[in-house]
Amino acid sequence: MGVNDMISTFEVVRNEQRCIQCRVCETQCANLVHYYHPDTGLMMSDESKCVNCQRCVALCPTRALKIMKNRCRMRENANWSQDTILEIYKQADSGAVLLSSMGNPNPLPVYWDRILINASQVTNPPIDPLREPMETRVYLGRKPEQISRKEDGSLDTKLAPQLQLSLPVMFSAMSYGSISYNAHASLARAATELGIYYNTGEGGLHQDFYRYGAHTIIQVASGRFGVHKDYLEAGAAVEIKMGQGAKPGIGGHLPGTKIVGDVSRTRMIPEGTDAISPAPHHDIYSIEDLRQLVYSLKEATEYKKPIIVKVAAVHNIAAIASGIARSGADIIAIDGFRGGTGAAPTRIRDNVGIPIELALAAVDTRLREEGIRNRVSLVVGGSIRSASDVVKAIALGADACYVATAAVLALGCHLCRTCQTGKCNWGIATQRPDLVKRLNPDVGSERLVNLMNAWKHEIKELLGGMGINSIEALRGNRLMLRGVGMTEKELEILGIAHAGE
Ligand code: SF4
Ligand code: SF4
Repeated sequence: MGVNDMISTFEVVRNEQRCIQCRVCETQCANLVHYYHPDTGLMMSDESKCVNCQRCVALCPTRALKIMKNRCRMRENANWSQDTILEIYKQADSGAVLLSSMGNPNPLPVYWDRILINASQVTNPPIDPLREPMETRVYLGRKPEQISRKEDGSLDTKLAPQLQLSLPVMFSAMSYGSISYNAHASLARAATELGIYYNTGEGGLHQDFYRYGAHTIIQVASGRFGVHKDYLEAGAAVEIKMGQGAKPGIGGHLPGTKIVGDVSRTRMIPEGTDAISPAPHHDIYSIEDLRQLVYSLKEATEYKKPIIVKVAAVHNIAAIASGIARSGADIIAIDGFRGGTGAAPTRIRDNVGIPIELALAAVDTRLREEGIRNRVSLVVGGSIRSASDVVKAIALGADACYVATAAVLALGCHLCRTCQTGKCNWGIATQRPDLVKRLNPDVGSERLVNLMNAWKHEIKELLGGMGINSIEALRGNRLMLRGVGMTEKELEILGIAHAGE
């Protein structure tokens, strides 16, 4: 036992009067926290292993369990927090880089919460979405500078390939391997039913999901796992992953323990081999190189599919986006520093990147100033939590949003942030067959559809309140936003006025 194991992060509180020793908690916990003690006839807990995933709490039939933050605290120290001290112990035990999952949990500003949305009052009256038509459909892809029509009124301009979305939200990249077969099945089915898209991530596309190709974005990342001709043809769009918000500047690593069975076949690498994506694409060191890959993929897909380039939000994101727009990409996806992940070095996740709100505003401004905004659509992700975040993102200049954490929450995730262990008790971030089957894809897809339909209603209400009846009319309309509690500089970058102005 290391020093670290002596100080549990969580405390398992069991109400002995309610506990009936049914041992459900024992069977449900993949971390082996609960066990039956035959001598005392009582259930016991090894709290050092608990990650607070809430599975046992939710399934205990007598509500006998609570998981608390350990009330036993080390001596207070404003500089050396208990978490920091425990990390030192852990690294002194292991000599290893600390790994984490999901998004940056630190109390850095969430700009969405400092932005407020306008509403119509006396003049320019609001629109009632129950009685008036509201258009939430959006099209992603390069837009023509001008359109011309034939004599009969039909369109004469040849349009670049577009993705049509019934609402401005898509499920972001999560690879098969980092999440389970049933999680992917849930996302694929829900995207198809909703008329939106889900994203394979960098793990290839399982044979069973080719039938959902019309609602699939297939990803080409630096490791090129699972990339072949049929794969490129299978999706509705191809995404080149240059970076990810949770780990900008580094590659990916799926441990060999997760490369089993179908995951290994789909990735086209041997079982048990670590899937390591290099930090750079080894054929891309400039915008010209990126352009070559963009056009290679366009050639390979006969110019029928939009090409997305995904990057992490970093300091000079506006210049980077300008280059990507000029590389021939049809869509730029920008992932903010709070974006989720199945596994990332903790120091990278918590210290690298910038907020998506500032990145989006800077990119939209730059592309407009350069007169190339119509060349690309902008999709943003990195902790889009609700319909109001979506509406704020659209008003700041996005065409659509990517969601991943919100989607896995809908599937049952309790944000324990230990996906990297592969022991997800909710059947999402795991390949263990006994855990995978805990997520029923029928239920999962229904919950995703419900979530997106709820957001769609809320988006319509927010639009109607502003007196706007389409997403298109809101896009980049920053007059609909006001800031609270921000500095002049923050407001300047966001391009919005302070509340009261
Ligand atoms: S890890 Fe999850 S299931 Fe196990 S004891 Fe902790 S909260 Fe319960
Ligand atoms: S997906 Fe599973 S392991 Fe990952 S944070 Fe959610 S509940 Fe925890």
